[in-house]
Amino acid sequence: MENTSEIILNPTALQYNLEFLRKEMGPEVLISSVVKGNAYGHGIEAFVPMAEQLGIRHFSVFSTGEAYRVARVIRQPETAIMIMGDIAPGELRGVIQAGFSFFVFDMQRLKAAIMTAQSAGIPAKIHIELETGMNRTGFSTTAILKEVIPYLLSHTEYFQLSGLCTHFAGAESIANYLRIDQQQRRFLRGRKHFIQAGLYPERTHSCCSAAAIRLPKMRFNMVRIGILQYGFWPSPEIKIEYLRKHKLANFNLHRVITWRSRLMSIKKVQMGEFIGYGTSYQASEEILIGIVPVGYSNGYSRMLSNSGRVLIDGVRTSVIGNINMNSFAISLQQIGTAKIGDEVILIGSAGALEISVASFGELSSQLNYELLTRLPMDIPRLYTHPFESVTD
Ligand SMILES: *Cc1c(COP(=O)(O)O)cnc(C)c1O
Repeated sequence: MENTSEIILNPTALQYNLEFLRKEMGPEVLISSVVKGNAYGHGIEAFVPMAEQLGIRHFSVFSTGEAYRVARVIRQPETAIMIMGDIAPGELRGVIQAGFSFFVFDMQRLKAAIMTAQSAGIPAKIHIELETGMNRTGFSTTAILKEVIPYLLSHTEYFQLSGLCTHFAGAESIANYLRIDQQQRRFLRGRKHFIQAGLYPERTHSCCSAAAIRLPKMRFNMVRIGILQYGFWPSPEIKIEYLRKHKLANFNLHRVITWRSRLMSIKKVQMGEFIGYGTSYQASEEILIGIVPVGYSNGYSRMLSNSGRVLIDGVRTSVIGNINMNSFAISLQQIGTAKIGDEVILIGSAGALEISVASFGELSSQLNYELLTRLPMDIPRLYTHPFESVTD
């Protein structure tokens, strides 16, 4: 391995997750595959062609740069790309010419989009985003009625209303129930204003993964699915709720990603000695440890100090001490047979055992998202053979 770790993507796992999603969502609901954050660390260039081969025809990204990266690797002429966030003012013309659709959440962008479309002679494909309570981006009800609808009605030849959308503020947690409930009502009301004005969006979309599972009424005709397609639950709560509702004892999505490294070194540490920097871990007996050549500079979060888990020789073991810049230590107490060079799985599965970030029980489920999206671009991305069986 030239790099100290590598990422392997499993198309069979993705196929399994997409089949699950299609069955859950039903045939009327288009699945937009969210590939922002470098496809949640999986790598846009590796992930997107795989998803497209498995039938995905709609991708969502955050920025213009990501949209072009997706555009370079897709093959099907009908595959659509939607930008949910940032477009620098100078990029708008290129975005419209490339045929990307994009979120519009303030009057400045709306006017710029219409004017650019007019001068380019190509209608802008816009998704009007409604502010329903997340308080990040979107138009308020007042703005919709007083400014947006009148402006759209007087410029109908310069845009295509590709979508009407909103985003929920934390649908993965029941603690946000009231806030999400209010967002749903506001979105339905906003939608009614558009329809009453004769403005019919091609797609109405509000659901991320958690909402798509939890709020079937809010799926409309498109959902924006990130984390679930990669085989991670948005939160343990969503998984438990799903199991209960379907009276299942257990059900797992399949991890698309395996992130692996290898043992760089093995040593014995005497009782009472500290391991690594500082004093966060003291050996309470003589122990055997292994060093893995991956650290926070390689995307293995410092949050996993003294709490992360890895798989080695089919056994689950713990990170001990702090995560360093380029390495961390693991306990080999239960794995006396481990040898230098043995594979160490940082995320993924081996037989029935699996390492997901979510399995670090006490840590926030947000860590799933953060750890994945921070996987550095320069870790090589490889594929398993498409017909290899999924082990978990
Ligand atoms: C990231 C994102 C999603 C996908 O969220 P998941 O929880 O990963 O499914 C959907 N919509 C918007 C606007 C997003 O930013």
